[in-house]
Amino acid sequence: MSQDNPLENALVRLDEAASHLDIDADVIEKLKFARETTKVRLMIRMDDGSRKSFIAWRCRYDDTRGPTKGGIRYHPESTAEEVETLAFWMTFKCAVMNLPYGGGKGAIQVDPRKLSKAELERLSRAYIQAFARILGPDRDIPAPDVYTNSMIMGWMADEYSQMVGQSSPAVITGKPIALGGSLGRDDATARGGFYLVRHLAADLGLSEELHVTIQGFGNAGQHMAKLMTSDGHKIVAVSDSEGAVYCASGLDVAALIHAKQNGRSVLATVGHGGHEALAAEDLVGVACDVLVPAAMEDMIHARNAGSVKAKLIVELANGPVTPEADAILEKMGVTILPDILANAGGVTVSYFEWVQNRQCYYWELEEIHSRLRVIMEREGRAIWNVAKDKGVTMRTAAYVHALLRLSQAIEAHGTQSDFVA
Ligand code: NAD
Repeated sequence: MSQDNPLENALVRLDEAASHLDIDADVIEKLKFARETTKVRLMIRMDDGSRKSFIAWRCRYDDTRGPTKGGIRYHPESTAEEVETLAFWMTFKCAVMNLPYGGGKGAIQVDPRKLSKAELERLSRAYIQAFARILGPDRDIPAPDVYTNSMIMGWMADEYSQMVGQSSPAVITGKPIALGGSLGRDDATARGGFYLVRHLAADLGLSEELHVTIQGFGNAGQHMAKLMTSDGHKIVAVSDSEGAVYCASGLDVAALIHAKQNGRSVLATVGHGGHEALAAEDLVGVACDVLVPAAMEDMIHARNAGSVKAKLIVELANGPVTPEADAILEKMGVTILPDILANAGGVTVSYFEWVQNRQCYYWELEEIHSRLRVIMEREGRAIWNVAKDKGVTMRTAAYVHALLRLSQAIEAHGTQSDFVA
C-alpha cells in the first residue's frame, strides 16, 4: 500500500457508515484500533548454509463476532499498517457475509520469488512456530493471500498439527484438497464476484454481452476471465505486474492462462489472436462495461479515476480504489461493487472448508457453488436495498450493513447507558 497510514483511509469508511446509523460511541471506539498486532523476526537457514531473518506480523483486529479470520501475504513491501488495514477489512467482510468470524491478517516481508522451495517451506513453518500461541481453529484461522498458495497452507497446517500433537486441519483454510481443503476454494473469490454481477445485472442496467477489463491476472483475475467468457462475455484487456494486453474483439483467455501457468507474463501472448501490447497505465481507461481490479491496493487513484470508461467496477482486489478516486467515480456515475462484498466469495468458501474440517464431512462441488450463490445473492441484495433506501453508494451501504451486525454484537455486551443510573 502506498499511503503513509492506509488504516486512516480505511477508517474514513467506518466514520461514513457510522453517520448513517444510530450506534453507540463504544462501537467506534472498539473498531478504531486493532485488538492485537504481533511482530516477530523469523530466522531460517538458507540453502547456502547462511541464516537470514524476515519480519512477520499477525494481526487479530476484532473478534467480537468469532475467531479472527484472514490471509497471510508474502510481499517485500508489507508493513504493519498494511496488515492492520487488511485485518480491518476482514472484520467488515466477515460481518457483510454474516460469517461467524472476526477479522485478522498476516504477512511476511519477503519476495518469495527469491527463495527456493525448501527455503519457502522453512519460512512458512517458522511463521507457524512463531504465531502458534495466537492461532487455532477457535482463535485465529489464516488462509492464502497475495503470493501464498495451497501448498504453503498445507505446510502451515502440518506444522501446527505437529506442534499441538493432533491433526488440526481447521486451523487454516485454502489447503490442498488432499489435506482437507474444500472443493471450489480455488475459484471462490472470482465466482462470488461473478454471481454478484449476474444477480444485480438487471438492476445495474448491464447488457447481455459485456466487455470486461481485468487488472491483475493471478488467481482472482484468471478465474474471473474464465467465468465471464464461459457466460458469453468478452475480456478485452488484462494486465499483470509486467504489462497489459488488449484486443477489442476479445482476448484468448486460454492462451493468457497458459502463458501464466508457464511462468510468463500476459505480454507473451502479444501477436497471438490479435492481442496487442498496451501500456499498463492505460488499462484503467480502456473502453469496456466492467472493470475488475484483481491486483493490489490503490491501483485506481485520483490521477487515473477520471479516465475510467466502465459503468461498473467489481473489486476482486482488496482496497483497489482510494477514497479520492471513489469520490471522482461517484460523480461520474460509475457503480462500484466494493471489495468487502465483491471478493467475499473467497472467505465464504474458506468458512465452508472450516465447517467441513470440523464436521469431518465433505460436500460436493455443486453444494459449495449453490451455498456460495445463495449467500452472495442474499447479502448483495440486502446491500443493494440499503444503498437505495439511504441514497448511498454500494460501498457505504456495505459498510453500513456490516457495521450494523458488528454494533449489535458489541452492544450486546452492554453500552454506556446500561452502566449509568
Ligand atoms: P495473485 O498473487 O494470484 O495475483 C496477483 C496478480 O496481480 C498477479 O498476476 C500479478 O502479476 C498482478 N499484479 C501485481 N502488481 C500489479 C500491477 N502493478 N499491475 C497489474 N497487475 C499487477 O493474487 P490473488 O490471490 O489473485 O489476489 C489478487 C487480489 O485479490 C489481492 O488484492 C488479494 O488481496 C485479493 N483477494 C484474493 C482472494 C483470493 O482468494 N485469492 C480473496 C480475496 C481478495
